[in-house]
Amino acid sequence: MKYIDEERINNLLADASKADSQNLDDILAKAKSLKRLGLKESALLLSNTEPEQIKKIFEAASFVKDAIYGRRVVLFAPLYISNLCANSCLYCAFKSDNLLIKRKALTVSEINLQVEWLLKRGHKRILMVCGEDAPDGKSNIDYYLEAIKSIYASSAGKNKIKRVNVNCAPLAVDEFKKLKNCGIGTYQIFQETYHSQTYLRMHPKGPKSDPDNRITAPDRAFRAGIDDIGIGALFGLYDWRFETLALLSHVEHMEEEFKVGPHTISVPRIEPAEGVELSSNPPYKISDDQFRKIVAVLRLSVPYTGIIMSTREDIQMRDALLSLGVSQISAESNTSPGGYTNVDKEQAGGQFSLGDHRSLDEIVGALITHDYIPSFCAACYRMERTGESFMKLAMPGTIKGKCSMNALITLKEYLDDFASGQVKGVGYKMIERYFKQLGPSEQDKLQFFFSRVREGVRDEYV
Ligand code: SAM
Ligand code: SF4
Repeated sequence: MKYIDEERINNLLADASKADSQNLDDILAKAKSLKRLGLKESALLLSNTEPEQIKKIFEAASFVKDAIYGRRVVLFAPLYISNLCANSCLYCAFKSDNLLIKRKALTVSEINLQVEWLLKRGHKRILMVCGEDAPDGKSNIDYYLEAIKSIYASSAGKNKIKRVNVNCAPLAVDEFKKLKNCGIGTYQIFQETYHSQTYLRMHPKGPKSDPDNRITAPDRAFRAGIDDIGIGALFGLYDWRFETLALLSHVEHMEEEFKVGPHTISVPRIEPAEGVELSSNPPYKISDDQFRKIVAVLRLSVPYTGIIMSTREDIQMRDALLSLGVSQISAESNTSPGGYTNVDKEQAGGQFSLGDHRSLDEIVGALITHDYIPSFCAACYRMERTGESFMKLAMPGTIKGKCSMNALITLKEYLDDFASGQVKGVGYKMIERYFKQLGPSEQDKLQFFFSRVREGVRDEYV
């Protein structure tokens, strides 16, 4: 597979098992100074099995998370627009030979219905997701563009979607340009597995069977002007240490080629999917301990890159991973096209089963209880703080101050418009608590924005 030197990764992992704890302390000290780690250092962290040392790794990850991101957590909801798919990924319910699920590509008016439902719950950020239809199928680039336009055009009162991120199959540069011109935020694509042989086995048919076309998709998106790119691996297909190190070497490639790493990294674990045997019994099942380590090592290795956690994980795991480095989470997801409002009598098939079924209100309430500030902010995107300019802010931790202010402004909007009585109670108290920690000029600024929110102005940011 292009960009991935498997032999080097295997050697790094083999050497890492022999390292002593002195190395570990030096690496953690470097990470805590918010410096990016090299592959060799990440390999040492991944390979450590001493409980005391792992505790230190977790503490350092929490430190770095807090230093760069503060207490804010960004919330979003996925919107599955189509489950039509020409591929046969062995782990996914949307694979073309799965006859057990009902297929559907939402119409524009059905998409509007879904978005209105999400807007009325308080969502402001959407991740648009779809299968990869056949080249002559109806779910193509024009369909994606129509869908994105209709998501941005939808409204519920004064509320609109602020940012649409997209997770779709690899496109050509001119198609990516069209996505960019349509106003997407992040383009997200997971390599699934960076191990060549496993990749070929897992993707036996369809356009996705070419690993190089997939791993070069971020390069094409970048060339098309999309500089916020999300990458990831589907954990459970191959050895977790190999996949983590390969993900990090993909990051290195992006940094070398484009002077900017990925905006986000996702760490999905395989979940059971209807009609798909492998999904209930993945070949390299990841334990909860290993999973926590993956997130902590990523946080330490690429401190300025957001880490996304979906509702694949259950409540306990999602809570634990927030302190280890996750900075964005999805809420009240549904993986079936039309699933939010049940557009048809017989619901279209979902992609996989979920571990967290709480409402947005419950999740916001739980975040506040754990002293995390729920954020619906899209200011960086609005202010064109993307790609390299975002990284310049994120690298020294400067983004933290802006993000915390914006998180408080968007939290107030959410509380005023959507929250239950109980969440309002704890939420306003949180705002008061954080307000008191600010200096006089920041307090003045925030007061100004809060008064605008009280007057009914929405989508404010610094
Ligand atoms: N179809 C496009 C593609 O494959 O790139 C768009 C994304 S697909 C709908 C979204 C992601 O879901 C895939 O990249 C894969 O990592 C993940 N996925 C597929 N099956 C899964 C399963 N059983 N459990 C968890 N995640 C799964
Ligand atoms: Fe289709 Fe994507 Fe599922 Fe593969 S992961 S079957 S390409 S929807």
